[in-house]
Amino acid sequence: MFFLSNQSFKNQKVLIRLDLNVPLGDDLSVTDSTRIKASKETVDFVINKGGACILIAHLGRPKGKDKNLSMLNILKDISKCFGKKIQFVNDCIGDEVEQAISKMNNGDILLLENLRFHEEETNGDEGFAKKLSRLGDSYINDAFGTSHREHASTFTIAKHFPNKKYGGILLQRELDVIGKILDKGKPPILSILGGAKVSSKLKIINNLVEQVDKIIISGGMAFTFIKASGGEIGDSLYEPSLLNEARLILEKAKKLKTEIHLPLDVLAAKDKNNIGETEVFNIDKIEPGWMGMDISRKSIAAFEKVIMSSNTVFWNGPMGVFEKEKFSQGTMGICKILKRAKEDNKYVITGGGDSIAALKKFGKTSWVNYISTGGGAMLESLEGKELPGVKALN
Ligand code: AMP
Repeated sequence: MFFLSNQSFKNQKVLIRLDLNVPLGDDLSVTDSTRIKASKETVDFVINKGGACILIAHLGRPKGKDKNLSMLNILKDISKCFGKKIQFVNDCIGDEVEQAISKMNNGDILLLENLRFHEEETNGDEGFAKKLSRLGDSYINDAFGTSHREHASTFTIAKHFPNKKYGGILLQRELDVIGKILDKGKPPILSILGGAKVSSKLKIINNLVEQVDKIIISGGMAFTFIKASGGEIGDSLYEPSLLNEARLILEKAKKLKTEIHLPLDVLAAKDKNNIGETEVFNIDKIEPGWMGMDISRKSIAAFEKVIMSSNTVFWNGPMGVFEKEKFSQGTMGICKILKRAKEDNKYVITGGGDSIAALKKFGKTSWVNYISTGGGAMLESLEGKELPGVKALN
């Protein structure tokens, strides 16, 4: 794969796939600009090498056009961060886009509208990728956080630039860090996984069981595993269709002697909006009518022991509904333990939107050794897999 080093982009229009998928608040303002800041280096590189930058990216998971997920919402943040005026066109393919590109001079930056307004993007559509490819003379993929997807702009497109496709500076840095963990990460290696959607992470857990020494499964995801082991989870979130798969993962871990740590207790609430009473239950004895919302003291203490007896730790996903103060103690507790782990010379990395937001909310980014812009992409790389978006550059 070609990373950026001494190529010249003089007089070229360079199509750059970035990861600008930043979280937006209720007023649609950017609440965390980590991914925008992380994208600047590659854009600066191209401009310094004489080119013009056409930026393509996605925001959220729109179903068709959705003005709440328009790239326009983040245009001024990008412009401020990059220190440059940025042009915008409200589509990512078509005549208007091509016209705007034809008027670009070296050093200009053009941002195109959310790629996912076209469903062909996530389908990895050949025709759509071809249309995108016509926009640039060269192609750079710097969207590490989306490179685990076989999407049109991260995967299908690359073949249209046989000698002019590159991995961006951020992509290179992320792969370097993960490569070092896989090659030289000091055992025991621990993966801490949280969040709500077990469906998107089950395959990852299944592979991680073979790669790491210990896994903490927490957050809303834990209940599928607790139920699979015969526990009573009250009205907590779980995925009935995945119980068997969860059971198989627990059995596989046992065979491979990979430790799986689940929460011991939980802070539960009675109604969906989480107002009103709360109560702490043992994780496998949650009464009907109660929903587990956060891990509680016994779990935090147990996880602390697991973390402090590991040497390499990576964390992705909150321990509870951390957005609500009442249910933020578990995630805050983990952030504080990670700080101590780093001080104790363990190598700590975190990644993914929620984990980065939590770390910033409850602590400082300097509490960990490295923050990855990717959540799913980081985990899939740590499984030892070559990401589709990276493979396509090779
Ligand atoms: P994910 O998108 O799968 O990474 O999940 C992130 C979301 O999981 C956050 O918005 C949390 O509020 C949510 N979450 C974490 N723990 C729980 C839980 N026990 N019940 C419901 N949602 C949860």
